[in-house]
Amino acid sequence: MPKTIDPYGAELPEDYTKVIKDFGLEEFKVEAFPSPNRLMRRGVIFSGRDLKRISDCIKDKKPFYVLSGIMPTNDKIHFGNKQVVENIRYFQEQGATAYILIADLEAAAARGVTLEEGKKRALEFHIPAYIALGLHPEKTIFYFQSENKDVVHMAYEFAQKITLNEFKAIYGSADPGRIMSAVTQVGDILYPQLATRMPGIIPVGIDQDPHIRLTRDIVNRTKAKKFVPPSSIYHKYTPSLNGELKMSKSMPESCIVLPEDIKTATKKIKRALTGGRETVDIQKEKGGEPEKCMVFELDKQHLIEDDKELQDIYDRCKKGDLLCGECKDIACQKMEEFMTHLEKGIEKARKQVDKLNFVKFS
Ligand code: SF4
Repeated sequence: MPKTIDPYGAELPEDYTKVIKDFGLEEFKVEAFPSPNRLMRRGVIFSGRDLKRISDCIKDKKPFYVLSGIMPTNDKIHFGNKQVVENIRYFQEQGATAYILIADLEAAAARGVTLEEGKKRALEFHIPAYIALGLHPEKTIFYFQSENKDVVHMAYEFAQKITLNEFKAIYGSADPGRIMSAVTQVGDILYPQLATRMPGIIPVGIDQDPHIRLTRDIVNRTKAKKFVPPSSIYHKYTPSLNGELKMSKSMPESCIVLPEDIKTATKKIKRALTGGRETVDIQKEKGGEPEKCMVFELDKQHLIEDDKELQDIYDRCKKGDLLCGECKDIACQKMEEFMTHLEKGIEKARKQVDKLNFVKFS
């Protein structure tokens, strides 16, 4: 039995190869995708489902969509959201139509956020933040879950197609709120195909795979084959700065949120677990271990775009030419540039929100 990785935990899979095997995923082959982004080039994207269907759409210039959701529960997001946005942007550039749903119904059910408050937060913060992180506003269709009756109808329809035991096998446990949330997500994932049947790709962390599996199971059971089963792409977690778990807001000392005050972010980076040796002399002699270093992981996943610059840090660390103090200073500098850019981008995007393409429901 594969270990249950679910959307509600903060566990870091130790061995991603095992995750691929246990969950029946495909390994991500970077050469199948043109102009791969940083996350793809560096192995942060490690697997997916039905990826050929999407690479064929790109190659043959056929229509497909990319979809993700925003849960407007508070005024911060995290690096996992950044990874998702970067992948949406990638597929937008490769011809996909992007859908962003605001999961205000789920935020109300799971966290007690009123629909009004969820809408306000999404418009004032989450959507501008996604645009600041790279989402292409003109090529994106937005909607609020609470306004989309089609999704609600689909959720009711799909709820009849699963049994409690099947649900438990996928999610590990079942309670009424979790079931409602999951079938609503199935409705969201398939919504773009109501008008036109076409492939779609859902970029997520591996913890969200149960939603993909449930959707694919339901589609495969629908005899009319009304929908194409969704493809998916999975990114590795950005680990917590203490190296133990995925970055989670439940561990504020080891998690950098977006946006974060730069002084606080700097302090966290300075305390991060590194691959440095016991003493400076030993490190100069033996070199550091960037493979075990959370600062290097942050550079690799988020802070350094240029592959040569990243390779230079790796090489100098391995040779003992670069010490952790200097290396952390470089990361702090990059983080400051990133946060400044993000905050300015959010401010700018806030002014564009009323021009965005929201689905109008009668
Ligand atoms: Fe990590 Fe940099 Fe220290 Fe190497 S020099 S172990 S990459 S902090």
